[in-house]
Amino acid sequence: MISVAIDGPAGAGKSTLARQLARDLGYIYVDTGAMYRSVGLYALRAGKDPADQAAVNQLLPQIRLRLAVLDGEQHIYLNDEDVSGLIRTEQVGMAASAVGANPTVRAFLLDLQRNMAKTGNILMDGRDIGTVILPNATVKIFLTASPEARARRRWLEYQQAGRSESYEEVLADVKQRDEQDAGRAAAPLRQAEDAVLLDTSDLDLAQSLAAMKQIIQERVGEM
Ligand code: C5P
Repeated sequence: MISVAIDGPAGAGKSTLARQLARDLGYIYVDTGAMYRSVGLYALRAGKDPADQAAVNQLLPQIRLRLAVLDGEQHIYLNDEDVSGLIRTEQVGMAASAVGANPTVRAFLLDLQRNMAKTGNILMDGRDIGTVILPNATVKIFLTASPEARARRRWLEYQQAGRSESYEEVLADVKQRDEQDAGRAAAPLRQAEDAVLLDTSDLDLAQSLAAMKQIIQERVGEM
């Protein structure tokens, strides 16, 4: 079974690229960020501060997450409600980042993520997939880009979706999330020693995709 771990900061294009790659390679795509976002959404809806670890920990027994592919698209269900669209906001992204700093939440999601890697060839994206979740992954890619390039991409996506966030707001969020993700004690964002670094600041989507395919094919070809 082949597992591809893709880690990197917010907005590096991980999920867009991973989704497309999984389709091209016929692998199952596992978006771990969607899991943290769903826990963040649950905390917000419950009226809790996502950074309040004791409060969030109390909610965990009430949370059931399920991933399913519908018409080739990955959907995430929070207690049987499809929240795939609802979790794609800056507010939920910040909440995800806050609950991601909580070791109990990380332990709660670890088994779910590891078990998914046993179901077939997978491509999993996140922050600690190569370092913690799948240390023996077949291929590890650390995908990055400058904060400005990442903010520009995310802002363009928002524009297309008819949303009003300004570029400056998105850039500030990207930087804040970088700090939160890299500075936290629990599974901070860092590149695994055996990961291949890919900086996509000056690459478009097609070029990034081609570079990733090459990295994967080189490793898988060696097996
Ligand atoms: O990748 P995405 O933007 O959906 O992730 C949202 C947040 O969830 C990240 O900023 C990060 O703090 C957290 N996360 C994490 N570990 C993962 C995936 C996401 O801590 N494996």
